[in-house]
Amino acid sequence: MEQKSGTQSVQDALKKFKALDEKITHFSSIVGLAEWDQKVMAPKKGRNVFAKAAGTLRTEVFKLSVSNEMGDVLAALSTPENDHVLDTVTKAKVREYKTYYQKSKTIPAELFQEYSILTGQANDAWEEARDKNDFTIFLPYLEKIVDYKRKFAELFGYEDHPYDALLDEFEPGLTVKVLDPLFAKLRESSVKLLNRIQHNGQKTRVEIFAQPYSVEKQKEFNHYILPIIGFDMDAGRLDETVHPFAQTVNIGDVRLTTRYLEHNVRSALFGTIHEAGHGMYEQHINQEFEESVLQSGTSFGIHESQSRFLENMVGRSKEFWTYFYPALKQYFPVQLADVSLDDFYRAVNTVEPSLIRVEADELTYNLHIMVRYEIEKALIAGEFEAKDLPEIWNQKMQDYLGITPPTDTEGVLQDVHWSFGGIGYFPSYSLGNLYAAQILRTIQKELPEFKSLIKNGRFDVIQEWLRVNIHQYGKLYTPNELIVKVTGEELNADYLVEYLEEKYSEVYSLEDK
Ligand code: ZN
Repeated sequence: MEQKSGTQSVQDALKKFKALDEKITHFSSIVGLAEWDQKVMAPKKGRNVFAKAAGTLRTEVFKLSVSNEMGDVLAALSTPENDHVLDTVTKAKVREYKTYYQKSKTIPAELFQEYSILTGQANDAWEEARDKNDFTIFLPYLEKIVDYKRKFAELFGYEDHPYDALLDEFEPGLTVKVLDPLFAKLRESSVKLLNRIQHNGQKTRVEIFAQPYSVEKQKEFNHYILPIIGFDMDAGRLDETVHPFAQTVNIGDVRLTTRYLEHNVRSALFGTIHEAGHGMYEQHINQEFEESVLQSGTSFGIHESQSRFLENMVGRSKEFWTYFYPALKQYFPVQLADVSLDDFYRAVNTVEPSLIRVEADELTYNLHIMVRYEIEKALIAGEFEAKDLPEIWNQKMQDYLGITPPTDTEGVLQDVHWSFGGIGYFPSYSLGNLYAAQILRTIQKELPEFKSLIKNGRFDVIQEWLRVNIHQYGKLYTPNELIVKVTGEELNADYLVEYLEEKYSEVYSLEDK
């Protein structure tokens, strides 16, 4: 059969698409490995050149993703005649590349170049500002970043709110209209619950964590629990870094990092469990999606739901410690000598308003996110300017958490995100908590023995449920499609609100509302 000029047969297009997808995924996995190596292994003196080499490869990946060849292939696969012959998996791959292609094409190359240089410099300025507690050092960069982001939002386009265009980069399809009522409900109930805990909650024995815990013993304990909770050590590893993260090279090579602090045993313990949640999501993705764009979690929010589900809903449960506490006591017999299981359980669930997001407990964490969400949304809409941030930040911290940061270092300058242009990223963390609570409700229905499985160390059964219902799909479904498929309804804040209410009423022996 003769081909019309300028068009490709669907077989041709599919062949080219598969080759491009594989090449991009292969390059990306090497970039990922390079990023891991820079943070975990590389000696100081070689890091600069190594970063440049990784940057060169990353640019190649970008060029391939926005190449004319990719454009032609995507166009060929998107014609109405060709679209209906594609299977679901190919359609999902086309959807992923198309979104990226179209977004990248809307930003003129020189504008993107300027923006990339700016974010490079902004990171240094942010570090200096934070170290010197001087917001004015970072301000000129932040003002420019906000300007660019406002421009990008206009270029990407949106229906109701310019912030929607930025949210979409992290949680495809999510809008302010959907998020506002969910977050408002969570914020109001969390502020109330925090007040009740502070006014009539019983004290926990949180001071047990103020003792030194040998780093060597902590390492042993972390390596002991990791395979038991389901992380496949033949398809991954655990190393140390300053900022813990999980990095996927491929489905059979998922690398976790954690940080051991002698005077904060909770940091490594819950950090490792958290990263293992991210890691198992990636280890469990369907092998058929390997070497393709689908071999990764579907969104930042869903990814975070898997880490927080494991860290908080499993890892901070009474049942989890019923199983693991006897072992922990053997590792730290002196520190935990007179600490009962119940004391320990209540201590790991201590609620205390604090200044720093990354150190916040399960309840107040979301309030830190609300501060950032409300600020970002208003900033992008032009309701105030970057120079007003320290004042607004401090006011919101006072309103929601009842504390005012004494310095900007402990306030508006604490997070790296804005310096790399990550406006729209923060909501993912609380979305993760919302998704996790909704998934918990479904699991408890489908596995009525959920709590006793944890108590008996049968984490394999729970991970199998997560694998079958969530993990295996990778990027096949969008986040909204996935949550509806798993739980039967769209994202709903009630589950997290009820979960927090129930948990802390028990931990703090709260009586009536
Ligand atoms: Zn995480």
